[in-house]
Amino acid sequence: MPRVPAVLFSLMPEADHTANPIAATALDRAGAAGFLVVISGPSGVGKSTITNAVLDRLDAVLSISMTTRPRAATDVDGEHYHFVDEPAFQEAIAADEFLEWAKVYDNFYGTPRAFVEQRLAEGKVVVLEIDVEGAIRVRRQMPDCFAVFILAPDDTALLDRLRSRKRDDEATIQRRFSQAQAEIAHARASNVYNAYVVNDDFDRAVDEVTGLIGSEMQRRRG
Ligand code: 5GP
Repeated sequence: MPRVPAVLFSLMPEADHTANPIAATALDRAGAAGFLVVISGPSGVGKSTITNAVLDRLDAVLSISMTTRPRAATDVDGEHYHFVDEPAFQEAIAADEFLEWAKVYDNFYGTPRAFVEQRLAEGKVVVLEIDVEGAIRVRRQMPDCFAVFILAPDDTALLDRLRSRKRDDEATIQRRFSQAQAEIAHARASNVYNAYVVNDDFDRAVDEVTGLIGSEMQRRRG
């Protein structure tokens, strides 16, 4: 996959970040530049809920991935994912439309390159909620990204959360649990993540993630 030129990070136009005090201070002083944030974590850890809260707090935009995963009853096409069939996904790979893509739990998932590049060029904070493989590929292309991994307090809490979603049968829950443990080990070995945040308490975890991203923006651009 072609690299995104580093110049993208330095030639970004002025943007309006007045809705958010952290973003306004950090970005305005620097003449505004986009900032790419990756959030990962195993299934059931609460990362989507944390991500949504962080999006609000930081006036950031979420990249909507394309996936071949079957749409669940609670999924909204175009809001949670762009749901496509496998031929359409393969076509998008062939056309180099993804910043990264990966096969996760037997389904394909990919981050649309054009959306991310355009929003970064507008000076936006762009959040990708992707798996460890995806984060490794994004880090290679955009070494300046800031990556956070969300952890459950312990194994019991993770299993409880996977069960309480009532989305999967027990066999799938057990499979997702062992995949989650493997993913945590993979994340630690990858050295891709700037920070690990334990979701022991929702509000505290949101504060920590928001604080980490805000401080990083200040550090780079202050
Ligand atoms: P779910 O199907 O439960 O929404 O997501 C399954 C896994 O795929 C999660 O770990 C999620 O973060 C990851 N994922 C979602 N979108 C993407 C993507 O565009 N790229 C990659 N690499 N992983 C993704």
